[in-house]
Formats: sequence, C-alpha cells, structure tokens
Amino acid sequence: MPQPRALAPDLLALLACEFGADLLVDEAALCARSRDESGLVRQPAAVLLAKSEAQVARLVSLANANPTGHSFAVIPRGAGTGLAGGCLAPEMGVVLDLTAMNRILDIDTRSLTATVEPGVLTGDLRAAAKAKGLFYPPDPASLATSTIGGNAATNAGGPACVKYGTTRDYVLGLTAVLPTGEVVRAGANTRKGVVGYDLARLLVGCEGTLGVITGLTLKLLPHPGAAACVAAVFADLNAAMRAIIAIMTRGHLPSAMEFLDARCLKLVGDLLPFRVEGDASALVLVEADGDPEQVRREVEAIEAICRELGAANILPPAITGTKEGDEGREAVWKVRRSVSTRIHEACAVYIPEDIAVPIGRIADMVAALPEVEARHGITIFAFGHAGDGNIHLNLTAQDEAQRPQVEAAAVDCVRLALALGGTISGEHGIGLVKRGLLPLEIGPASLKLQRGLKALFDPNNVLNPGKIFPAEQE
Ligand SMILES: Cc1cc2nc3c(=O)[nH]c(=O)nc-3n(C[C@H](O)[C@H](O)[C@H](O)COP(=O)(O)OP(=O)(O)OC[C@H]3O[C@@H](n4cnc5c(N)ncnc54)[C@H](O)[C@@H]3O)c2cc1C
Repeated sequence: MPQPRALAPDLLALLACEFGADLLVDEAALCARSRDESGLVRQPAAVLLAKSEAQVARLVSLANANPTGHSFAVIPRGAGTGLAGGCLAPEMGVVLDLTAMNRILDIDTRSLTATVEPGVLTGDLRAAAKAKGLFYPPDPASLATSTIGGNAATNAGGPACVKYGTTRDYVLGLTAVLPTGEVVRAGANTRKGVVGYDLARLLVGCEGTLGVITGLTLKLLPHPGAAACVAAVFADLNAAMRAIIAIMTRGHLPSAMEFLDARCLKLVGDLLPFRVEGDASALVLVEADGDPEQVRREVEAIEAICRELGAANILPPAITGTKEGDEGREAVWKVRRSVSTRIHEACAVYIPEDIAVPIGRIADMVAALPEVEARHGITIFAFGHAGDGNIHLNLTAQDEAQRPQVEAAAVDCVRLALALGGTISGEHGIGLVKRGLLPLEIGPASLKLQRGLKALFDPNNVLNPGKIFPAEQE
C-alpha cells in the first residue's frame, strides 16, 4: 500500500469510529504534537491520546491492515522533550500520545520495584519512590517534564549515570505492543533473568521503532541518606580533567561529575559566590551520596584532591539534610542547569550535540574545538558529564544565515569524537536528526543486521518509520 501524505477521509472516519473522543484532529491538538525539542516541525494527520494498552494494540493493528485499504504510520510520543525528532510524524502519520497512561501502579517496598505506565513523569516517579524511602536514580535534566516511557525508549541518562547507570539498568521488565499489534512481555520482575534473548534491553533505546512500551517494571534502590556537591574552578580544562581522573582513580565513585568549559563558565559565572579569574578557567562539580558520615568523608577527600591538583577556588560542600545544606546544594546545581538556557538566550543559532568519548580523551576532544570553530566561523560551548565522557557541545552562531556552517561544524565534531574512540550520541539518540550520520559509526554488517531486525519486528514499516536509519536506503 502506498504511504499517503495525509490520512484519507474514509480512514479518518474509521479511526474516529474506533477511538471516539480519544482521536484528536483539531488544529491545536495537532500543533501541540508537531514538534519536540529538536527544533524540527512535522504536523501529524491525527493524534490518538491513548488511555489503554488495548487502544494502542488496536491502532497499531489497523496501521497494518484495515477495511479502507489505506496504511498509515504510528509514531509513539511521550512528553516531546526529545532532542532528536524521534516522536515527530514524518509522513503525516498518527501520533500515539502516551501521556494519559500515567499511573504509578505499585511501589513494592519488599521487592524494591515500581510498576508504572509509560506516561508517568520521571520526576513524579522519583518523588513517589522517595516518599517510601526508595530511589529511582536516572536523572535526565528534563526529569520534571519527560516520561518514563520516553526515557526507556531513548535510554535516557543524566549526571547520576556515572555511579548508577542509565535507564536501561533500571528496566527489569516491560510490556510492549509490537509493530504487528501483538503484545509481548519482555524481561522479568526479578533482578536477574537469562531466559531467551534479552528483548527488554533491545526495546529500551530503540526510539519507538520496534515496539510501543505500555508498561514497565523498574528497579529501585534504597534512598541515599544524604548528598553533597563540591564545586571547584581550575585554571584550564586540562587541569580540571586531571582532577577528575585523579578522583576516579583514587577509589572514589561520585554520584555526579560534571564540567563547564571557560565559555560556559563566563555565561553562568555570576551565579557563583566568587569571582572567576582568567579566560581559560573551567568548573568541575562533583557530588557524593550515601550515608551522611560517609558523604562527609568522601567530599572532604574530593575537596583535598581538587586543592592538590591546583583548584583556584572551591565552594565548600553543602550536605543535604538541613535547610542550609539543601539550599547550598541546589545553588550549585543551579549553576550547571542554567548553562543550556543561557546559551539558548545568547545565540540565534544553536545545535546541541551529545557525543561521548572515553573519559581520558575529554580534554583532547575539547582541545580540538578551537580549530573547528575557526574553520567554520562559529562558537562552541562545551559542558556535561565528565564522569562518563558525554560532552554536550553547543554549536552556535549569531545569525540564522550561518546555520549551514554550524551544521557542518557539528559533523566535524562527530567525526572527531569517533576518531577519539567515542560515539555520536551519548544519550539523545538518533531519531531524524542524526540518521544520516549513523553509517559513520555503525559498520555495514551491523547496519544490515539492524535493518533486518527492524524488518522482522515491523514487516510493514508502520511503527515510527524513517527514524534511526539513513533515508536513502529505506
Ligand atoms: C532541557 C532538556 C534537558 C534534557 N536532558 C537530558 C538528559 O540529561 N539526558 C537525556 O538522556 N536526555 C535529555 N533530554 C532529552 C529528552 O528529555 C529525553 O530523550 C527523554 O527521555 C525523552 O522523553 P519524552 O517523554 O519527552 O519522549 P519523547 O520526546 O516524546 O520521545 C522520544 C522518543 O521515544 C519514543 N517514545 C516515547 N514514548 C514511547 C513509548 N511509550 N514507547 C515507545 N517509544 C516511545 C518516541 O517515539 C521518540 O522516538 C533533555 C531534553 C531537554 C529539552
């Protein structure tokens, strides 16, 4: 069946009959689902605001075959905070909005698990777990607005990754509607399980191309008693990286380890309680969590390492548990969280890259950036997760006419990361935005296998088509 650019009237009538008021076709509803945070815009032909797994399965089944003979694409969508265009409708398909399936069904304090629907907000789950003394560690910076289903589909991570891992490490089991409309349960409710192929780990991170996640069983941990953050300014990024490597190789396992390069520091330096000297200064934030006494010892040791390695300024760590400590820690994290917004505010053109390199190569990666800037006449801000080598490069220019140069510089950065043994995306995924770059990292044999998997799961190519794989070979 040819893929229509818009849904035929008889197909729309069929869907309206099947889903009633849950099928949305008004301009406001379509408009609200026409973008994510990638900057791309694709208006869908219709939206299903799903209320149940049965509705999801029915929609996907109809996409494969229905009495009108017209096919359509189904595009799963959580909160639309994605940065890769993954939830956008490329062929005027039907966006499957999962935000109304947002119940926390159970927090099991005996098994330390949570059972949730996909539309639960990450922050809501973390708060519900905390209220029972439990901890859901994945902490993407978007956690107040992103959904657990979207986090699982993109294998989201955040600062806590360095100690706790990514979303994938917390998905014990999941239920998914396959692209054929069948429902599968993958993984288990247990902390271990080696029965058959690990379909849960395959579905996590597949960006909604192999299945629609309709339920998740998540691993929880005991909530750490306290956390504290050390903020240290170094003369340059090399000095900062030496401190980071020393902290990790001297037996410490921080719960976050972030850095800001000199450009970023200039943008947010006013939020620090001291003046930052020098043009090349870099900021390192290191957090420890656990038992309060252990945290105190840990941050003292980390502070000592920073001093030994030449930190110019150190903000004394504030330990959570008191009003003053909570506020102190929040103030430090505000510095880190303000970076993206301030870059956005300061630059007309802005492309966020999220390459990752082995942690020992972060300084090499950042040292190579001035040449890229000079070649393309653009400005690059570098910050991010020093503990796992995931650098957020924000490529910017002051004039929309320079967008092609910014895009060309982004490709150079990706090539640089690969040359240093890195990867083209640490956490944001491929979606539409990076699919042309996929063959730079994935060899022909792997690409063929991955395309084969997509075809096996989705013989009619109805679920989130056009994502991940380069367009010319679709
Ligand atoms: C300010 C900001 C900060 C961010 N910080 C981080 C960060 O620190 N770490 C990080 O990893 N990301 C970060 N992101 C990116 C984004 O928040 C994550 O990718 C997040 O996991 C997306 O969740 P979502 O609910 O918004 O999903 P959406 O954007 O709606 O969808 C993302 C992808 O998942 C698929 N999908 C969504 N729900 C389902 C489902 N139930 N079943 C199958 N597929 C589904 C979609 O088809 C799409 O491919 C940030 C984004 C912003 C705007």
